[in-house]
Amino acid sequence: PPALGRAPAKADPLAQVRHVIAVASGKGGVGKSTTAVNLALALRAAGLSVGIMDADVHGPSLPTLLGLHGKPHAAGRKLVPMRAYGLHAMSMGLMVDAETAMVWRGPMVMSAITQMMADVDWGALDVLVVDMPPGTGDAQLALAQGTRLSGAVIVSTPQDLSLIDARRGIAMFRKVDVPILGLVENMSHFVCPDCGGDHAIFGQGGAEAEAGRLGVPFLGAVPLTMELRAASDAGQPVMARDPEGSLGRIYQQMARSV
Ligand code: ADP
Repeated sequence: PPALGRAPAKADPLAQVRHVIAVASGKGGVGKSTTAVNLALALRAAGLSVGIMDADVHGPSLPTLLGLHGKPHAAGRKLVPMRAYGLHAMSMGLMVDAETAMVWRGPMVMSAITQMMADVDWGALDVLVVDMPPGTGDAQLALAQGTRLSGAVIVSTPQDLSLIDARRGIAMFRKVDVPILGLVENMSHFVCPDCGGDHAIFGQGGAEAEAGRLGVPFLGAVPLTMELRAASDAGQPVMARDPEGSLGRIYQQMARSV
């Protein structure tokens, strides 16, 4: 029979996950992970079952952002995602030490991420949010191509340089036919706690204008605030601390738009 000796078809490890959403940025440090975590929590607050996976192998920040400690447990041959604020979470930072991952090159990054997807028992989820590695190189392209992505959210600051990188990210996802769910402007302006003034440190309105030019939805502007930074560093994201506060409402609006 023709099927004899053929390896069994590889089961899709994410078969029971309805939507996989990538959160990406053209460069590091623009708030991609912060956005991924708070967006995931906002989707959870909307009543969905949500997982979050840190594919940012070189700088996994999910353990810090969600206050995760220890190692994930195994059940049979699969790892059980850790739980934080109602999310199912897994990060490369929980599986290998930072120095090991630091020296990985493109293909190793890709295989490590594929393995993280396959070796984790994600179970049935409405949404899996994937915190992508920053940039638009080969590893990112392979990941975008090799994963069944429902869409991508691009995070950028209003600054020109960051927007140029965001444009590259959008082009990359378009190349592999992944729909762009929208553009988030992070660190859009700074509300000074002392003088109450509103300072557009990286310029203003850049991302919204760019979204219009590129024909992608604009998902919202998140200000640069001490509250957001402190919440993230404390492992208590703003969407967990204060979902109905002004920042929480921005993320809830974002979750409704994706
Ligand atoms: P990326 O994933 O793009 O590298 P992160 O989400 O890790 O970026 O954010 C980088 C740093 O900036 C973190 O210390 C984070 O807490 C901080 N940060 C991100 N967004 C904001 C914001 N809107 N206001 C204040 N701090 C922020």
